[in-house]
Amino acid sequence: MKAIALFSGGLDSTLAAKVILEQGIDVVTLHCLTPFCTCDKKGCGVDTRDMAKQLGIELKGAFLGEEYLSIVKNPKYGYGKNFNPCIDCRILILRKAKEVMKEYGASFIITGEVLGQRPKSQHKDALNIIEQESGLAGLIVRPLSAKLLAPTIPEKEGWVKRDRLLDICGRTRKPQIRLAHLFGIKNYPCAAGGCLLTDPAFCKRLKDLFDYGEFNLREIELLKIGRHFRLNPSFKLIVGRDEKENKKLIQLVQRNDVIFRAKELAGPTGIGKGIVDEHSKILSAQIIARYAHPNGAVKISVKVAHEEQEVVCVERKDQKELERLRI
Ligand code: SF4
Repeated sequence: MKAIALFSGGLDSTLAAKVILEQGIDVVTLHCLTPFCTCDKKGCGVDTRDMAKQLGIELKGAFLGEEYLSIVKNPKYGYGKNFNPCIDCRILILRKAKEVMKEYGASFIITGEVLGQRPKSQHKDALNIIEQESGLAGLIVRPLSAKLLAPTIPEKEGWVKRDRLLDICGRTRKPQIRLAHLFGIKNYPCAAGGCLLTDPAFCKRLKDLFDYGEFNLREIELLKIGRHFRLNPSFKLIVGRDEKENKKLIQLVQRNDVIFRAKELAGPTGIGKGIVDEHSKILSAQIIARYAHPNGAVKISVKVAHEEQEVVCVERKDQKELERLRI
């Protein structure tokens, strides 16, 4: 008997997999990344591989790209507090898990969901919708809350012993921490975030992209770095905050973008996106000048590279004005 465990490397998903492993069932963990995970490929600020290693089980990764963007743009079940389409997100991830289940010849899915822990996606109605829409009705075992939910096929068939599952609910983490201690699970992360779609500051930029920009993976990557300024409906400026971001901006630059840099001064790289006119060009140069020479009073030369390269000499933009334009 084999199962696929959705795995974030967090405590709940680790415990859920462990509870099933303890019943002698073979478990493969599946770590799904989306364009909005606050993580690199190594895991969500968590060493996902380390957590899987502690359990002694295989970790498989999957990236959800374009298909994920379409649910963020048009979620069938709406958003949570910000732009988090949690129900659609869970459905998509579970559909992926279903594919992996077939690939591995597994019989059911395990998740670390806890009843009542998240208002949008972890109440009974939402769990039912997610099961139906993912085509996995009766095949999702949620070991941490199973005793509070209807028995699943694996329980009815006796593959999984229901009396060895749990009845945890709500937002408290105390039962999970006790269980981690019991199982000897260490170095688990705190319960914070992991998804930019719940971050109000990021969602402000995302709203701007919905309103004025092109919604694609490259633009999403740009939303994650730099300071963003909406100069007018047709033009946006992104300014790197450090050397690493300056380099990343250059990597993400596209053919029609405008590159701004202070001449003969250390300072940020700026990428202008959209239709550049004289006003937005000068305004962008003034913003670059502000960050290139934050305290000086002199005029500053800024290189502007578009179809041709030119140098404009500008005064630094006033900080208050910068804040007004900032997204
Ligand atoms: S918080 Fe983000 S990753 Fe988690 S279910 Fe909601 S949309 Fe998906």
